[in-house]
Amino acid sequence: MPYPSFLALLISLLLVGCDAHQPTTSDDSRPVKNIILMIGDGMGPQQLGLLQSYANRAPNSRYQGRPTAMQQLMNQGKLLLSDTSPHNALVVDSACSATQLATGVTSGSEMIGLDYLGNPVETLLQHAKRSGKVTGLISDTRITHATPASFAAHQPHRSLEANIAVDLLANQVDLMLSGGLGFFLPANTTTDTESSAFTAIAERIQHAGQSLRSRRKDERNLLLDAQQQGYQLAFDRQQLLASQQLPLLGLFANSGMENAIRYHRLRESGAERQQPSLKEMTVKALDLLSQHPDGFVLMIEGGQIDWAGHNNDVGSMLHELLRFDEAIQAVVDWVQERDDTLVVVTADHETGSFGFSYSAVDIPEPSTLPGSGFAEHTYAPNFNFGDLSLLDRIHAQKKDFYDVWAEAIANGDDGRVTTDSLVNAVNNNLAFRITHEQAERILARHKNPFQRPGHRYLSSETLPKVHDFTPFYVYGDDIHLNLLARELAAQQNTVWGTGTHTATPVPVIVYGPSSAQEAFQGYLHHAQVGALLKSFLP
Ligand code: MG
Ligand code: ZN
Repeated sequence: MPYPSFLALLISLLLVGCDAHQPTTSDDSRPVKNIILMIGDGMGPQQLGLLQSYANRAPNSRYQGRPTAMQQLMNQGKLLLSDTSPHNALVVDSACSATQLATGVTSGSEMIGLDYLGNPVETLLQHAKRSGKVTGLISDTRITHATPASFAAHQPHRSLEANIAVDLLANQVDLMLSGGLGFFLPANTTTDTESSAFTAIAERIQHAGQSLRSRRKDERNLLLDAQQQGYQLAFDRQQLLASQQLPLLGLFANSGMENAIRYHRLRESGAERQQPSLKEMTVKALDLLSQHPDGFVLMIEGGQIDWAGHNNDVGSMLHELLRFDEAIQAVVDWVQERDDTLVVVTADHETGSFGFSYSAVDIPEPSTLPGSGFAEHTYAPNFNFGDLSLLDRIHAQKKDFYDVWAEAIANGDDGRVTTDSLVNAVNNNLAFRITHEQAERILARHKNPFQRPGHRYLSSETLPKVHDFTPFYVYGDDIHLNLLARELAAQQNTVWGTGTHTATPVPVIVYGPSSAQEAFQGYLHHAQVGALLKSFLP
């Protein structure tokens, strides 16, 4: 039997099962009033393992013996695996994956809120709204990006972010907190400043330290539209913390929000922060949404785990996982004393084919062991199995790879990175070193073997020179960052298989009323996870 129809059968069986199951839900425990879905973008089992290794085993772990929020949920709830694949392909992108979670049906690559044939399907948030609940979307990327978009928009392609912004408002999502301000501003902001209503908004945007740069090509002013719909608007952390009612639209960056390393360092320095943290957005959402008598559905995304994964930047990836786990902790604390809330933490796919690996370099010197088994032997493993101190050294990274590269450009020659400026930028910001010879390899270029004129990512004539798995590095000059990762690999005991996504099954952590928890069984597909989530709505 071909896989898609087998899957369709499975899902229809499951849906029937759920309908039959629903009445008993209210018999043996209170029904699910609230649903909180948390998506770590790019957080495959390998990434979860990185967080767990760091938290539990780094000599100077920030957790100091406390379990991660994800571990607390795994211990109290259950942990399953889910296949994330699109209807007719092996590997999924974030749009298709989030769409499958949001709609409960299989979808196609790069689609937003559509089934695999391209038909709009009511999403979890739309269904919740229809049944009288309030809804929320939070992301540390931007609100028009693929993951949040898939829960309240229907578009043929994820890149149509200007249309996605219109859809998000049309669907009256009660709370939206993220970046993406540029997609809500009219192409020509100066004409609109004539209107006094917008002048006041524009002043608040500028007071928040943000620009009025539009990312739209039309003159729609979605901030004025939002205000007319009754939305409170917030453009920085202070404005968010002061917000007291729904609906609420918080746009804290023109495009993507700050990366986790930069944000962490700013917070540690005690300086004033323009943007709220992912945790602060989560706490505010729980506070406002939970005041609604009929409950809520909230999706929270840790979205930049994926971005670090694409760059093969393990230090950043760890910091993004820490940021996501901090938000999960806020949910765990809130949900702890309740029996009416279902929490599901999952990923949309794995990014980078990441892993710690043992190697032939820096094999430790033989040592002695006190155990009687070693009375006549030295302890001398054949290979370098990775010292635990690596976890602290990976965590010590001071800038993400984009910012390291920007520093190398700034200190380079006429806006170009030099071997000197690259060596310095890496050695200033990482607890690992590179040599000039390595910098030369990172800067080497070759003719783009996959050049496609007019293609969004593949049009350039030359590319940084990847030596193997070349077709899997698709993001233009960012490939320099993947090459940097290659040069650090031996020191970090870290390997990467790709600059894109892999099809490994991802974790699904479920915590909630026992009847709801029991409904999640076996090896899942993300469309099933989505269908199950919907089945708890009236
Ligand atoms: Mg995402
Ligand atoms: Zn990705």
